Amino acid sequence: KGIRIAIDGPAAAGKSTIAKLAAETLGYTYIDTGAMYRAITYKAIRENINIGQAEDLAELLNRTEIRLVPSLSGQAVLLDGEDVSEDIRTREVTSSVSEVASHRQVREAMVERQQEMVKNGSVVMDGRDIGTQVIPDAELKIFMSASVEERAKRRQLENEKRGIPSSIEVLQQEIELRDKMDSEREVSPLKKAEDAIYIDTTRMTIEQAAGEIIRLARE
Ligand code: C5P
Repeated sequence: KGIRIAIDGPAAAGKSTIAKLAAETLGYTYIDTGAMYRAITYKAIRENINIGQAEDLAELLNRTEIRLVPSLSGQAVLLDGEDVSEDIRTREVTSSVSEVASHRQVREAMVERQQEMVKNGSVVMDGRDIGTQVIPDAELKIFMSASVEERAKRRQLENEKRGIPSSIEVLQQEIELRDKMDSEREVSPLKKAEDAIYIDTTRMTIEQAAGEIIRLARE
């Protein structure tokens, strides 16, 4: 039976970069669940679906295939076969995704898909409710955070690499708003599982944080 590592935490805490590196080193499959919520949000926007309507979103999800495929950059996101890896990272998607993810029907369908994905093999899965809802019996649970200033700084650097100039103040506000929505929603809000190990990455490099996870996984 495989080893399942659940990583949760607020926006832009470095979860995906660190989880990806740890998974690569351990030879586990990396699964970014945020990309799944982003993909359905992207499709809803494209099809002009009201993201306040849970039933409409659930119906959309029913006729949508989302595949996460390992790639050179970590993971490609295929929406009904189309590579949307870049499209799901826009500000438009980012500012709507928390509302989409707040609906019970959307979450239930997503959690079901995610549980199917961790049935075989060893995985590192990151998100907001992995340790609490998706894999409550995970072999290792991590809750990862960093100061909001540091998270805004990292997001700005990431944007720069993509050629998108952005203000650190605006990014910080966006991150704070998304964290507020994610931790105050009624259905499985973002929170640390009781048995999760807390890692504050504010003063850690990517390699240090990944190293910590690898060490814990090998214990
Ligand atoms: O991880 P990422 O920042 O890409 O996630 C985008 C959004 O998807 C989060 O802000 C949250 O609203 C939602 N999400 C979630 N549950 C997960 C993963 C992501 O609600 N397991």
